[in-house]
Amino acid sequence: MRYASRKEDFLPRSFYNIKADLPAPPKPPLHPGTKEPLKPEDLEAIFPKSFIRQEGVTDREVPIPEPVLEAYSVFRPTPLIEATALRKALDTPARIFYKYEGVGPVGSHKTNTAIMQAYLAAQDGVKTLATETGAGQWGSALAYAGSRFGIETRIFMVRSSFRQKPGRRVIMEMFGGTVLESPSPTTEAGRKFYDQDHEHPGSLGIAISEAVEVTLKTPGVKYALGSVLDSVLMHQTVIGLEAEKQMEEMGVVPDTIIGCVGGGSNFAGLAFPFIRHNLRGERKARFIAVEPEACPSLTRGALRYDFGDSVGMTPLLYMYTLGMDFVPPPLHAGGLRYHGMAPLVSHLAAMGIVEPRAVDEKTVFDRAVLFMKTEGILPAPESSHAISVAVDEALAAKKEGRERTILFNLSGHGFLDISAYARNGHGGKA
Ligand SMILES: *Cc1c(COP(=O)(O)O)cnc(C)c1O
Repeated sequence: MRYASRKEDFLPRSFYNIKADLPAPPKPPLHPGTKEPLKPEDLEAIFPKSFIRQEGVTDREVPIPEPVLEAYSVFRPTPLIEATALRKALDTPARIFYKYEGVGPVGSHKTNTAIMQAYLAAQDGVKTLATETGAGQWGSALAYAGSRFGIETRIFMVRSSFRQKPGRRVIMEMFGGTVLESPSPTTEAGRKFYDQDHEHPGSLGIAISEAVEVTLKTPGVKYALGSVLDSVLMHQTVIGLEAEKQMEEMGVVPDTIIGCVGGGSNFAGLAFPFIRHNLRGERKARFIAVEPEACPSLTRGALRYDFGDSVGMTPLLYMYTLGMDFVPPPLHAGGLRYHGMAPLVSHLAAMGIVEPRAVDEKTVFDRAVLFMKTEGILPAPESSHAISVAVDEALAAKKEGRERTILFNLSGHGFLDISAYARNGHGGKA
C-alpha cells in the first residue's frame, strides 16, 4: 500500500532491535523499591501493556503496524542530503551527508516514537498519556500523535524552556494537549522544588517525576517517555534503516556516523542499523555521540545504576549519569539537558563502539550559522552539536589529506529557536 508519492520509497516495514545482535546484554533495569531486576508487571502502573511488550521484545526485526506506517508516510522517508555547499566552504576532501528529520509534522525525529507510542496506547484503550518535555519537541510530537490516535495528552514542560519557547506551548495546545510549567505546585514532586524557588528553571528529571506521579495517582492515565528506553531507541531506527538504503542507492558507505545525544534516541536511531555491521565484524565505522560540555553525562558521568527522574520514582537504569540531583544550566539546547544516557547507548560506549564527545555552546552556534549559510536549513540547537563535530571531522580529514564519508543526523529544525540564536548575537549585526 502506498500513501504518498516519493521518488524512492525506502520506508522500512520493521524496526531494528539491536538487542538481538549484542554479544552481551546490558544490565537489566531494577525495581526502585526491591532493587531486584524489573518484571514486566512492575511497569504496568506506569506504561501501557503493549508498550511494555515492545520494551521486552528480543526479535531482531519488529514489524511496524499499518496505521503507524500510514502516519509515517506523511513525512517518511525523510531526505538524505549531501552537504555539497558546506563541503565547499570547508574545502575538505571528506564527503558529508545528513539525514534530515526536521521535515516531520513538528520538526524533529521525536514524532517517530510518539506515533508508535500513541498507537500502542490506543490499542490498550488508554485515555490519557502524561509526559514531560524539555525544549518542547517531544511534547509537541506526543500532542500530535495523541490527536491522531484519539488520546488526550498532559505535558509537564521544563520552566526554562516554557519561558524561552512560548511557540512550542501554543503548538501543543493547538493539538489539544494540556501544558503545565514544571516544577509545578500541582504535584508532590513538583512542590519539592517549586516551594524552594517559584522561578526554579526545572529539569527533565523533575518533569519526569511530575508526569510519573500524575500517572500513578490518576486512573486511565499512562505515561510516555520520549527517549532513553530500549523500545524508544528501536522506534527511531527507521532513521538509520532509511539512511542506509538511501546511501546504498547513491553508492556510498559512511565511515563516520555522528549524532547529538540528550537521552540518546536520535543518535541510536541513525547509528544502530550501521553499528550492526560493526557487531558482525563486517565494517569498522566510527560512531560519535555528541553532548554539551555543560551536561556531559557520557564524557564526565559515571556508569552505574541511577534513577531516570529526580525524585526516585522510576526504575533504576544502568547508565552513564551525572546523578539524579544534577540540574543542568538552562542551555539553549533544552533537549540535551538530561542527567543520564540511554542504557543501550551507555552499553555501546562502555564497549568502546560509541565514542563520546563534548562540545561548547559557542562553537556549536557558530557552526550552526555556517551550516545555515551553506545548506540553507536552520538547525535545532540540539542538532547543531552533531553539525559541529561533523565539521571537526571534515577539517581533520582535510589536515590528513584523506577522503572520508561522514553521515550525521540533523534531528530537527530550529524555526522555534530563533530567540536562542538572537541571544547568541546572530541575526542582528552578525
Ligand atoms: C529531543 C531532541 C534531541 C535529544 O534527544 P535524543 O533522545 O538524545 O535524541 C535532539 N535533537 C532534537 C531536535 C530533539 O528534539
